[in-house]
Amino acid sequence: MCAGAIVVRPAAPGTTRACSSLPALALLVVGAVTAVLYGVVDSPLIHGSAFVVAGVGGAAAVVVGPRWHGARPGLAWALLAAACVCFLTGALVRPWAVGQDGTSALAADAATVPGYLFMLLGLAGLLRTRGRLPSHAVIDGLIVFIGAALCSVLLLAVPAGSIADRPALVSALAALYPIFDVILVLLLVSLAFTTAARRASYLLLVASMSSLLLGDVLYAIIGVSGQLTGSRLLDLPFLVGFLLIGAAALHPSVVELGRAAPLPVQAWSWQRLLLIGPALAAPFLLTVFVSGRSATDRLVLGVGGAAMVVLLMMRAVSAVQGYAAAQRRYEHRATHDPLTGLPNRLMLAAEVRRLLTTRPANRTWIWVFFLDLDGFKLVNDSWGHHAGDQLIAEVAGRLRAALPPAAMVARVGGDEFVVVHLGDRSDALAVADRIIDCVNTPLQIRQVEAVITASVGIAGTELGPAGVRADPPLSADALLRDADTAMYQAKADGRGRWVMFDASMHERVRERVDIEQALRTALAQDDLRLAYQPIVDLESGALIGAEALLRWEHPERGPVSPAVFIPIAEDTGLIGPIGRWVLDRALCQVAQWRTDGTVDADFWMSINVSPRQLRDPGLSRALDDCLARYDVPASVVVLEITESVMIDPTSATGQVLSDLRQRGIRIVVDDFGTGFSALGYLRSHPVTGVKVDRAFVAGLGASAKDEEIVRAVVAMSSALHLTVVAEGVETPLQQSVLAVLGVLYGQGRLWGDPVEPQEFVHRWSAEAATADPVPMTTTEPVSMTTTEPVSMAAAEPTQGCGGGS
Ligand code: C2E
Ligand code: MG
Ligand code: MG
Repeated sequence: MCAGAIVVRPAAPGTTRACSSLPALALLVVGAVTAVLYGVVDSPLIHGSAFVVAGVGGAAAVVVGPRWHGARPGLAWALLAAACVCFLTGALVRPWAVGQDGTSALAADAATVPGYLFMLLGLAGLLRTRGRLPSHAVIDGLIVFIGAALCSVLLLAVPAGSIADRPALVSALAALYPIFDVILVLLLVSLAFTTAARRASYLLLVASMSSLLLGDVLYAIIGVSGQLTGSRLLDLPFLVGFLLIGAAALHPSVVELGRAAPLPVQAWSWQRLLLIGPALAAPFLLTVFVSGRSATDRLVLGVGGAAMVVLLMMRAVSAVQGYAAAQRRYEHRATHDPLTGLPNRLMLAAEVRRLLTTRPANRTWIWVFFLDLDGFKLVNDSWGHHAGDQLIAEVAGRLRAALPPAAMVARVGGDEFVVVHLGDRSDALAVADRIIDCVNTPLQIRQVEAVITASVGIAGTELGPAGVRADPPLSADALLRDADTAMYQAKADGRGRWVMFDASMHERVRERVDIEQALRTALAQDDLRLAYQPIVDLESGALIGAEALLRWEHPERGPVSPAVFIPIAEDTGLIGPIGRWVLDRALCQVAQWRTDGTVDADFWMSINVSPRQLRDPGLSRALDDCLARYDVPASVVVLEITESVMIDPTSATGQVLSDLRQRGIRIVVDDFGTGFSALGYLRSHPVTGVKVDRAFVAGLGASAKDEEIVRAVVAMSSALHLTVVAEGVETPLQQSVLAVLGVLYGQGRLWGDPVEPQEFVHRWSAEAATADPVPMTTTEPVSMTTTEPVSMAAAEPTQGCGGGS
């Protein structure tokens, strides 16, 4: 079966559609041949056979097609199939029945009348799936309905019903058919007015119904003069109708007939006017025909015409109201946040501007509170965006409930809100406390009770009656910018607090911009350097690796700590090129040391990589290039990642990590224990080791709690076959406690601060030569500002990998 082929072999879309449309096409071709034979060949046998072929083919297709394609609703299609069977029976019986006496014709009607009922119910069933019909479709449908009804009743039904020389039931039925047709018109028009995508099935169904209507109208026209049967060509539209409805049911787009695809609110399109125009003209044209007829006929016409006028007025009112509502919705959407329903940045800025231009009777202040949720990204990352949205909506609701109605609460970004409030300074501080408190209250996310905090920046400017204030108030943009700056300060001061803006904060922002620019220049001019800190075997003190740490001297500020400039580089994207520079220099260095014998083959180089670098799929390729360029094996490289990387749910990071791991590159989690990592994360990521954060190492020998933590990390790591390095080891006591706890490797001042390559060579070549690993507790670290001449006592080839030299 074709449907099976579509699932199993997903070929090009065109192929599958052609394949599925084939039965509908085949039926249409057979139908066309049958219709031609029926029309051209003058043989009762051919006529009967043609009708049987068309009728049985059409009915079978209506039974099978919708089921095959899974079209809904099944009941509507079952009713349409029943209608086809009834019509076919009626059509086959009619020629025989009409040949008998007048009442025998009723035998055909006994099949055809239920056929109409089934068809009307079936179409109504399809329409029901469109839900509530739009008012414009209902009104337009009713206009067409009244026009058709007036024509049908006055021109066809009344004359047919009033023929006296035949049984009353035959006349009544003859009058009934045009009325069925009018209802059919109403349903078809409603279908047309509520269908946006006019696919093949829809067009075939409409064509089929139109063909049936044509047949009925032709019969009704001859019925006016009392005839019940005429030329065989009068039956041709029914034959064609059967085939078309069969093809509609077989076509794959039949599934869309039962789906709601409403048209947008419509002005009167020309297609619609084409239907409505004749309907509106009907009462005027009909006055000509009924002028000589009974008063009832004229009354029907008058009522019909009046109803149309009322409908037209309702249509006009509904269109105007529709546009007004759409306009309101549009304006609301443009000025409000869809998730929380709060005003957005646009409306906020307009409101602040409005307040700044008002002249209150008494002096007052306008306060802007810029609020950012702390650690919101973590919620998003750990529990997904849905939970993040829930949290935002909850915070929005709390803020709105906690603050006075006169205060404006707006959402201006992902997790950023702004509150605008008028009052004096003490009011402002009370509002700030209320904001902090209402966000702090625990909330439920995915069955977990979470506490989230907010950092709030406050900025204000004085408003007052004309002439009272000396300085003009700040602009809206300046107020928002100042509040934003103060918010950053609140974050820097430890989060979960509010900070009032003061002018010195701008200085800090400028500083950041300055550092960014200088860092760009340093990178371009190769002014960055790498320092190397030894990693040793805790027991023997033997060198087993080194960590490459970035150093940078700002032209005016002097040495800047990586803890300051790395976050700026991450924010600005500079970390990409900087990270690659570090990889290149560190691998160049290790290659040199391996060649000149400073280090042995097992020596590893630890390189820090930031989360942003790990989202770059090109990282593995860059590493491959470096490894190939300097001819060092991948096993030499250890990448230090932060704990936050492990909870980054982006598949990009996971992919990069596993690419790296597949190459044999080791991955350790830096500063382990300070972030949010849990055992589960270590197990589900391709990491090979952890570096115990120096915060825990510092307490060893003094804090039992820290000892417990390190013991737990060691136990967990050995269960997962992870290496453990302790960082920040400063004292022999810490060294011995670590050894007792089972930590094998250490790094810290006890063996030396990060130093320039030359000094590293000097220290560790000398150690290798004496084979006497003395802790370098007394060695002066090469500070970031050092300008001291470098000792050249060590092996020569240290040129070319340092940068800035
Ligand atoms: P980290 O990777 O945890 O590096 C260890 C930090 O501890 C270094 O600080 C090092 O100088 C310091 N340290 C070493 N031994 C001791 C000790 O005994 N006691 C104390 N108190 N501190 C010690 P540094 O060089 O200032 O680097 C700070 C952070 O900047 C690094 O932390 C790392 O996260 C980041 N960083 C440094 N270089 C790079 C780099 O090339 N790329 C990236 N992405 N981050 C880097
Ligand atoms: Mg590190
Ligand atoms: Mg560290």
